[in-house]
Amino acid sequence: MPMLHGCAFPGCSTFTLSTYCVEHELLVRAHKEAERALAVDHALAADAALSADAALTAAATDAAA
Ligand SMILES: [Zn+2]
Repeated sequence: MPMLHGCAFPGCSTFTLSTYCVEHELLVRAHKEAERALAVDHALAADAALSADAALTAAATDAAA
């Protein structure tokens, strides 16, 4: 039988059956999704940087030729 315990969120004393109380469960989930979206943004940014590098390298090669 699951036991009620305090929410794992610092400073929150709401009792819950899961790790966080409902309020913080939603908050933590939203935070994780935001982080995932950010990671995708960073991956896209890295791709864009690589493409920019490739374009620069191509331009430099053209200039050298
Ligand atoms: Zn909480």
